[in-house]
Amino acid sequence: MSNANAIPRDQWRYTGSAGHWIMGRYCRWHLRTEIGSFLVSTVGEAPDRTLSRPDKEVLVTTGIEGETYETMTFPLSLDRCMSAECDCGERIVHDWGGISCKRTHTRGEAQRAHDEECERVARKHDSMLAKLSKAQP
Ligand SMILES: [Zn+2]
Repeated sequence: MSNANAIPRDQWRYTGSAGHWIMGRYCRWHLRTEIGSFLVSTVGEAPDRTLSRPDKEVLVTTGIEGETYETMTFPLSLDRCMSAECDCGERIVHDWGGISCKRTHTRGEAQRAHDEECERVARKHDSMLAKLSKAQP
């Protein structure tokens, strides 16, 4: 089935940094995909430093053991990272509120959640963007 609004996969951009969450840089597992005006980000496997249990892999945002991965979608601004140090050119998130959030328990589930969210964003991109601009004051 064709979809005129879909953003083809060869226009998605994959980058290597952890895409969200204040503890993102500690996450041992992460995926970051820019699709049009949106970022799909999955982070996980952060050691729970706050509870002094480095053996446990817990997302501190939930505090729930086993919910080890989080996939979120954010609107991107037109600005890019201009840091000469990393030279990544990653687009800057416009609003960290997050449009969607799914938490998962295994690497496989996290990978599938990321892939499915990327497909959904690519398919619904234009209507998501229209909804977003309607919500702006
Ligand atoms: Zn950068």
